[in-house]
Amino acid sequence: MVDAAIQQTLKEKLKEIFGFDAFRGEQEPIIHNIVSGKNTFVIMPTGAGKSLCYQLPAMVLDGTAIVISPLIALMKNQVDQMSAFGINAQFLNSTLNKSEMTRVKNDVMSGDCKLLYIAPESLTKEDNLTFLKKAKLSFIAVDEAHCISEWGHDFRPEYRRIRGIIDDIDPNLPIIALTATATPKVQQDIQKNLSMEQSHIFKSSFNRKNLYYEIRPKIDSKKQLIKYIANNKGKSGIIYCLSRKKVEEIAGLLNVNGIKALPYHAGLDADTRMKNQDAFLNEECDIIVATIAFGMGIDKPDVRFVIHYDAPKSLEGYYQETGRAGRDGLEGNCLMFYAYDDILKLEKFNKDKTVTERDNARALLMEMVAYSNLGVCRRRQLLSYFGEYTDKDCGFCDNCIKPTKKIKIEDEAVLGLKAIIQSGERFDVQHIADILTANTSNPYIRSYEHDKLEVYGKGKGMFVAHDEDDEDDEEEEEEVELELSEEDEEDEETKPVAAKSSKPSKKAEKPTKKSDNKRTANDYWV
Ligand code: ADP
Ligand code: ZN
Repeated sequence: MVDAAIQQTLKEKLKEIFGFDAFRGEQEPIIHNIVSGKNTFVIMPTGAGKSLCYQLPAMVLDGTAIVISPLIALMKNQVDQMSAFGINAQFLNSTLNKSEMTRVKNDVMSGDCKLLYIAPESLTKEDNLTFLKKAKLSFIAVDEAHCISEWGHDFRPEYRRIRGIIDDIDPNLPIIALTATATPKVQQDIQKNLSMEQSHIFKSSFNRKNLYYEIRPKIDSKKQLIKYIANNKGKSGIIYCLSRKKVEEIAGLLNVNGIKALPYHAGLDADTRMKNQDAFLNEECDIIVATIAFGMGIDKPDVRFVIHYDAPKSLEGYYQETGRAGRDGLEGNCLMFYAYDDILKLEKFNKDKTVTERDNARALLMEMVAYSNLGVCRRRQLLSYFGEYTDKDCGFCDNCIKPTKKIKIEDEAVLGLKAIIQSGERFDVQHIADILTANTSNPYIRSYEHDKLEVYGKGKGMFVAHDEDDEDDEEEEEEVELELSEEDEEDEETKPVAAKSSKPSKKAEKPTKKSDNKRTANDYWV
């Protein structure tokens, strides 16, 4: 039941503070719920207007709302936005010096500060906790709540401690958890971890009707990229790459080809990052080439295309990143170049993880592989991933518009199965492919005498070509950005750049030639 008086106040404040005439989607019942002191769980796609769901309640309730947020950049962005609305919002993190910290704490104690942004890492610090216990708080907002779940794409272990800390401060504080990514699994994980099983869930559709999804094989990808951008001249776009090196390379490539593009990754110093981000936001530069370090919390409504030059590590990440296109509801094109090589590259980075972490990461990756390879409607696949099932094709994705050619692979399938059986059903797909293509650079083939198998070398010439356009000489030295953490951000500020390049190169230990790294067979077999 929505109380009429509260409803009236909320509407007035919406106009008075934010200048908006009406609530969007379910904002009103959500805000009503949290203002009434009830735990609230909000699942809405990027751009739907989640922030208002805690910003407005913070303005109408007594005391300060705590907003737990994963990234310093994100906090700063939000605090700047709030200041523009004339709201006293502050953040508490390690970038503040002593006197700034004291000022923020005073503002909270006096009740002037309505929203206090804080990272979970700072929340656990003893003196911050002591201070928060003394302050008058209105509620706790857990932003980017999917960071709680190992099944989410940005798992942050510190997020799992939030519930305990809230209990320590005041177990009765209402919580509003918000996320743009919640598969049914992640959703349950969040609810359980925050003890919010009983709370009302407000979940809106994840269908972004204006986004066109397209995947192309990663062949001649650089040429394709330049052509694509030339065809979209003057439009704003983001190009995502896996590594810092690739970001620089692609930005350089575009510049050489007369396309103005700026790089963005965590290896750049904070000033350059800020400068490049601002140039993109202020339309001085149409294109930003970036790692996943770019984008969270960036609110540019007229991004017309998002290109994944390399495959992301999960469908959730893909959805988030593509979600930055067409936030204004107008044209939004999402193009991804796909090669199984990229999946192998991503898999390498799971080597040092625990078995469970590795299995989780692998499962997420395999979903990405399935999405990229299947010929069924992309939107249907994406939506079903978020628990939204439909039996209708969308008519607005590459698979709907240009259905993939079906090919018969009976002989190849039989060959693959034979290789698996003949090698004793204990080798991975890479090894099987190496047997079939007689890849002499794999030393295990000879040591296991797999070169004597009947199927050895029988698959030569059956596989699609490797993307010569996108070869990496020094793969091992690449700084890949898969996760974002506050520590990373802080490190960047203090660590001399040379520290990174002084890392011993593993390349010298690796006797294989560049051409030996080709994994052509996998493009076909998976
Ligand atoms: P999310 O956090 O869900 O990605 P944001 O909170 O950043 O989305 O909101 C996206 C944009 O929508 C912002 O520019 C915000 O100011 C705007 N917005 C939010 N609610 C409303 C509303 N009720 N009316 C008009 N604009 C809104
Ligand atoms: Zn479709």
